[in-house]
Amino acid sequence: MNSPKKLFGFAIVVIFAILGFSGLVSAASDHGWDLETADQAFQTWIITDTESGQQATLTVDSLGNFTGSGWVGTAPGAGDYNIYITNGRMSGTSMTFQVSASYSGGQGTISGTGTGTLNVSFPSATSGSGTYSGTISDPLGDRNFSSPWMATRVGGDGGGGGLVFPDLTVLIYRIAPGVSLIVIIVAVVAIVVAILPLPRNGVRLGTKRAAAPPRGKLKTGAPASMVQHLDSIQKIPPGARPLPQPRLHPGKFEPTDVLQKVPCPYCGTIVISAFGKWYCPNPKCKWNKGEV
Ligand SMILES: [Zn+2]
Repeated sequence: MNSPKKLFGFAIVVIFAILGFSGLVSAASDHGWDLETADQAFQTWIITDTESGQQATLTVDSLGNFTGSGWVGTAPGAGDYNIYITNGRMSGTSMTFQVSASYSGGQGTISGTGTGTLNVSFPSATSGSGTYSGTISDPLGDRNFSSPWMATRVGGDGGGGGLVFPDLTVLIYRIAPGVSLIVIIVAVVAIVVAILPLPRNGVRLGTKRAAAPPRGKLKTGAPASMVQHLDSIQKIPPGARPLPQPRLHPGKFEPTDVLQKVPCPYCGTIVISAFGKWYCPNPKCKWNKGEV
């Protein structure tokens, strides 16, 4: 993982995986699947109607949502009935809930809302208080009610450890409402792309150097290259004769040295080439003097 291109490829895969995951989560939530993984029994509270002294147990999940076992109410001629606490929520220092009851075979109903304040923000809060109020409706007539309440945490911890995953999940699924089948398809493709190994060519982007073409090996006695000996015509001594094709000398050549130059066989001076012929540039060379 040392090449920038590999890192780039890895980053793309990670991004696709994240997109795929969040896409699936939001798509699933959009289709009504419950992905909320809140700890359902994160805290336990007791809520007391401070006028009647009635108590109810609240079961609060790690997101602050709660329901209550209900207060017990009594109506003349109807006996005892349950006052249910529903849609409760602790958020920050706010606490809200709804109350409802039905008695006398549905002839009597109670409907109301509770609001209040926690001593500190959920989930660290240990107590709260407020009022709940609403409407009573039965054969005796419609009337309003209002009553104070107090709540105290009696179980569960106020730490945030269990909150991380549910909060992340809820965050994802609240950011992206209104997704559709297209998102599911894109997400599946993204996850497949992220999981499947890419073809080798896709991963090893240009990390392999093209092999150098094989270098021709020079052989003893091979003709010297004229290109390597091209030189100026001014270096040809007056009266010089062209040399026969010089050959690479045994014992002197390096098999891979294509730049090696060839000495004059008569005086040892490096030969030159001009006009397609070979010359010894040494004016005193025996060859040039015609002594050979
Ligand atoms: Zn010479």
